[in-house]
Amino acid sequence: MLPNFAYVRPTSLDETIEQLSKPEARLHAGGTDLLGCLRDQVFAASSVVSLSSVPGLDAIEETADGGLRLGALVRVARVAADPRVRSRFRALADAAAVVASPQLRAQGTIGGNLCQKPRCWYYRGEFHCLRKGGEQCFAVRGENHFHCVLGGDGCYIVHPSDTAPALIALEALARISGPAGSRVVAIEKFHVPPSVDPRRETVLEPGELVSEIVLPAPAAGTVGSYRKVRARGSWDFALAGVALALVLDGSRVKQARVVLSGAAPMPWRARGAEDALVGRRLDARSAAAAAEAAVAGAEPLEHNGYKLPLFKGLIAEQLEALAPR
Ligand SMILES: Cc1cc2nc3c(=O)[nH]c(=O)nc-3n(C[C@H](O)[C@H](O)[C@H](O)COP(=O)(O)OP(=O)(O)OC[C@H]3O[C@@H](n4cnc5c(N)ncnc54)[C@H](O)[C@@H]3O)c2cc1C
Repeated sequence: MLPNFAYVRPTSLDETIEQLSKPEARLHAGGTDLLGCLRDQVFAASSVVSLSSVPGLDAIEETADGGLRLGALVRVARVAADPRVRSRFRALADAAAVVASPQLRAQGTIGGNLCQKPRCWYYRGEFHCLRKGGEQCFAVRGENHFHCVLGGDGCYIVHPSDTAPALIALEALARISGPAGSRVVAIEKFHVPPSVDPRRETVLEPGELVSEIVLPAPAAGTVGSYRKVRARGSWDFALAGVALALVLDGSRVKQARVVLSGAAPMPWRARGAEDALVGRRLDARSAAAAAEAAVAGAEPLEHNGYKLPLFKGLIAEQLEALAPR
């Protein structure tokens, strides 16, 4: 059952920030993740602050340099369908199209997708785990089939968002608005690894929210994709996923960004894979080398070693699919 809380619906960003700065205030965008967390008592709220009446947060606009600006309240389904996103930011369109189910994509927002809470069943269940302020991660010796193989450090969640790896591959930025004004953070730096603080997921400070996401214009020759493997085809979080943004000169790779989902507590930039691609022809050989490099250094837990061949096959297939024919 949902606990009691006050519900406020500010009509400006300033008023939203003021309301959000109060103790135990929680932001409500589409509510598809927030309401489940409140119902399951993952955290409490004294007040829920709705973004729905703040004007201007649901627009998709061109920027002067040929990029796009997405308001935080743009629905995930709209991101997937927008012709500009589909033609210029393919990895993001692909990722948005495989978030959850059609109903959840129609309700969920891009801002909420970036800021959603982890899906670990210990974190979401009745366990006072490290992330909830307890002493230990129960996954490390427990049922860890869906947990991380890279970047675990005390806490072994996987980051749940499909759009975050794509946004990082596309070098997107988040505008953060809060009591001290506004600041811009590369989405690559937005999520907090457990080695820094296992009790927070993002760099947001009290009273701050993501107000927009900016996609810089892609370089000429950019190609990209996002694909995830999941246990259920109808809807599910990634067991293994990869976002790609490559700049090609003919069949040669000039630049590469390879970002994994389902791998680590935050979207995981596979720099080894990127290094294995840059300067080489994109073909089966370089794709296989990059796939191998992407999981070098992985440390699977007792039940999730299956993820390594999954990642290797997925990354190699997706890279080969981008090679010019
Ligand atoms: C059954 C199910 C399946 C799902 N499957 C997937 C999946 O496959 N892939 C995937 O990526 N996601 C999945 N989700 C997660 C999620 O519901 C969606 O990603 C959705 O986009 C979240 O957006 P929302 O607007 O509903 O967020 P909300 O529920 O409103 O908010 C989520 C969290 O982010 C905070 N928040 C929201 N907006 C902002 C903002 N602008 N600034 C700062 N904080 C903010 C809220 O306070 C809350 O803590 C699934 C959810 C469910 C219930």
